[in-house]
Amino acid sequence: MTADSFSVLPISSAQKANLLSLGYKQMTPIQAQSLPIILSGKDLIARAKTGSGKTAAFGIGLLEKINPRFYGVQALVLCPTRELANQVGKELRRLARSVANIKLILLCGGKPFGPQRGSLEHGAHIAVGTPGRIQDHLRRETLKLNGLNTLVLDEADRMLDMGFFDVMTEIIAQTPKKRQTLLFSATYPNAIKRMCRSVLRNPETVTVDTEHQSGVIEQVFYEVKKHERNNTLLALFEHYRPASTLVFCHTKKQCDEVARLLRGHQIEALAIHGDLEQRERDQVLVQFGNNSCSVLVATDVAARGLDIKAIAAVINYELPRDPEIYVHRIGRTGRAGERGQALSIFTESEQVRVNAIEQFMNKPCICDVYASLERDSEFSLRAPMATIQLDAGRKNKLRPGDILGALTGDAGLASSQVGKIDIFEMTSFVAIERNALHQALSYLSNGRVKGRAIRVRKLSQS
Ligand code: ADP
Ligand code: MG
Repeated sequence: MTADSFSVLPISSAQKANLLSLGYKQMTPIQAQSLPIILSGKDLIARAKTGSGKTAAFGIGLLEKINPRFYGVQALVLCPTRELANQVGKELRRLARSVANIKLILLCGGKPFGPQRGSLEHGAHIAVGTPGRIQDHLRRETLKLNGLNTLVLDEADRMLDMGFFDVMTEIIAQTPKKRQTLLFSATYPNAIKRMCRSVLRNPETVTVDTEHQSGVIEQVFYEVKKHERNNTLLALFEHYRPASTLVFCHTKKQCDEVARLLRGHQIEALAIHGDLEQRERDQVLVQFGNNSCSVLVATDVAARGLDIKAIAAVINYELPRDPEIYVHRIGRTGRAGERGQALSIFTESEQVRVNAIEQFMNKPCICDVYASLERDSEFSLRAPMATIQLDAGRKNKLRPGDILGALTGDAGLASSQVGKIDIFEMTSFVAIERNALHQALSYLSNGRVKGRAIRVRKLSQS
């Protein structure tokens, strides 16, 4: 048994067994530091980067306190976006397997109100959601928080950035004074400090690894003339040939333009930003997550906190003004001991941003010039898989095995040609190796899945 084993914690043996079955053998650093505090009932401010295992830290803590026989909301988790709320909900459901009959409800916008109200009437122990929709439920009195004992503010800095301060204050005012509050944030700006002072009581603070281990991420900065920015971006792809890339832009418009530029040069890319509808966002993230698209162009808000797979390179099309955001962006690569590349483009007038990053990281930035990049006019970048969308999902009791079974059975694909399968409420996605795409499509559009004809289509990249 090591010091970081979950077995040292004062939690139920059912949860310990559950964690082992999930493959969680050791606590991550944020879990090791924060769980003793959380389990002691104290308020907590935790600063840690994305992917550090924050959900299980607060999840294990809040589950220990749930009384399954009391059918009221005892724990509330506020998240900045629907995707994040979904991810947190998924992880909490896995953790809640250790306790019989725990009901968790997701309360996010974009979904009809009625079913949420219905589920709340039946009683839920844990609510996870976005501030807007939770406020809505409170105002209509379909959600009551008087039995709450744990309040979690996940990605609190992002919620403030998105303008949720007033909404959060209104929600918090409806929770009991005697509660445990856990606040998680990647950065610690003044707005968060102020919020902590008014919302938390005698909090303990833990900080883990906000500055990434250097060496794992290779960082290079390219100083260019303004008109060279686009060519430099293309040259970075041609020179480094990253297997998967996240490109950061400032604005939504820029995201669309950069994605279009890349596609125009045979580099398949998708953009994600706040203007997309939920349906479109899901499609983009599915394609990036299942290897059907290897380049994602995003704003900070859209990319923040998303549990997306290991990324080979992060490219800053423009540098952020705040060096902490830079550190956060590049933390998307070089995870779990793998090597990653962080490539940044800046113009003379943005030199101050490079200086700020140097100061923040306390080491010099390595700069290079556009001319050192090897161009290759033949270059093209195409992901190995393509995605087929099926118009049936969880509602139709469709499971991954049904899709895999249909494709490897009658359609005659090898299981190695079928990639990740994502099942949503009303729709599903399956990644198929490109050379087997035609075969898969023609089978699925004529054959049956789970005994019924299903409409299918290939997702396109534009
Ligand atoms: P964060 O909220 O800090 O961004 P998450 O809670 O989403 O991170 O966790 C990131 C990933 O790590 C998830 O896929 C989760 O299942 C996994 N994970 C969390 N804790 C552990 C652990 N102790 N051991 C192994 N994997 C873990
Ligand atoms: Mg998280």
